[in-house]
Amino acid sequence: MQRRHFLRSAGFAAAALSSGGILAREGALPAANDALAAGVPKPPFAPLPPLAPIRASADRIVALDVCTRPFRAQGPRIEAERVGRHTVIHHYGHGGSGWSLSWGSAEQALRLVAAARPRRGELAVVGCGAIGLTTAVAAQRAGYRVRIYAKERLPDVRSFLATGVWSPSSRICTTRFATPEFERLWEAMARTSFHTYQTLLGLPGEPIEWRDGYSLSDVPFNQPSGGGGEDEEPDYPHLEGRLLRDIGPRAVALAPSQHPFPVPYVRRYTQMTFNISAYSRMLMADFERAGGRFETRAFGNLRELADLDERVVVNCTGYGARALLGDDSVIPVRGQTARLVPQPEVTYGLTWRGHNLYTVPRRDGILVQAQAPGDFGNPDTTPDRAAAEAMVARLASLFPQA
Ligand SMILES: Cc1cc2nc3c(=O)[nH]c(=O)nc-3n(C[C@H](O)[C@H](O)[C@H](O)COP(=O)(O)OP(=O)(O)OC[C@H]3O[C@@H](n4cnc5c(N)ncnc54)[C@H](O)[C@@H]3O)c2cc1C
Repeated sequence: MQRRHFLRSAGFAAAALSSGGILAREGALPAANDALAAGVPKPPFAPLPPLAPIRASADRIVALDVCTRPFRAQGPRIEAERVGRHTVIHHYGHGGSGWSLSWGSAEQALRLVAAARPRRGELAVVGCGAIGLTTAVAAQRAGYRVRIYAKERLPDVRSFLATGVWSPSSRICTTRFATPEFERLWEAMARTSFHTYQTLLGLPGEPIEWRDGYSLSDVPFNQPSGGGGEDEEPDYPHLEGRLLRDIGPRAVALAPSQHPFPVPYVRRYTQMTFNISAYSRMLMADFERAGGRFETRAFGNLRELADLDERVVVNCTGYGARALLGDDSVIPVRGQTARLVPQPEVTYGLTWRGHNLYTVPRRDGILVQAQAPGDFGNPDTTPDRAAAEAMVARLASLFPQA
């Protein structure tokens, strides 16, 4: 069916050209079909261009960042609480999935906002990271007048230091709390977000884009690879593989002749990437263009949220909620990334199983991420330069001739 469609289009275009733009008759098609049947050779597609090597060396590290994921074993807290005459809608605790789930999670929080019926449609959002800013923009789209109150705003917040890939089930809850009810909520959030991100492709600055990546392994993919700091963490449910199989491209196994990497097992995947600098600027600009206002303010406790003029307040303080509310359910999971000088010619990411190495080809640099033992429950955001350099050296070993 597709081939017929292609031939019809090709015959149509050729006839249109030969007649100086006069539309072709369907009669041109049998000739094209005859040529195909007669085995006339067709020109080949262009070969894929070779992969450019990553220039991995410690002197090319231009940024070294550490931030903490706001993890909750029971998943994000999205619920309303009455504080005096105010309604505070808590919206925090998105683990390693905050950017990925932001639009769908905002949709859930806005259901609670609608039920609280803000006076004159005025809404306060506390926090200006991935969750606060996206919630604010989504609220504007829903017709609310929004003011963001925050101690810091993007790019000076934790969200800015994320890796920037579609990872909707990364440290989103533990297996124990992945109840059918939670899974339904998670799936709804992930699907809404995925759909919204597809509307943000192809924009100037490429805030969102799809990129290829290569999964490398020293042992067959169906065998455990060992290594990696995640072994010390709780069990996380594999929601994406089970509930989102129908969205997004699948990984394919490559033969040794199909890749240049010095490892025996390789798969190619395709992944949605968030270029966080361009994307957060876009969200900030969208918010301001729609009349949104910012106010720099730090809150010391829950009661202070009830001093705001707006009677409905969405609390998007991320890891900050732990101190603000004394909520020990928010657990820090430390993560360090190093960024190498941008290489526009490197359009692929890498995952090296068992070596705890992960790279993302962002527009602002090649992001190199590694999970280390002791990251879970660790609030320390002091960069570890030696660990970053060791990771870059490991990356360099994949490009022996570069
Ligand atoms: C290394 C690493 C890699 C990651 N990679 C990815 C990824 O690839 N994809 C993905 O989807 N997610 C990823 N994440 C997770 C993601 O970054 C988080 O889930 C997300 O940043 C949480 O956003 P947030 O808005 O809740 O928190 P934050 O970004 O911390 O924002 C909180 C906001 O609240 C404000 N605030 C806090 N306390 C107060 C207070 N008392 N008074 C006033 N304001 C306050 C802050 O100033 C800030 O504006 C990663 C996280 C880490 C650490």
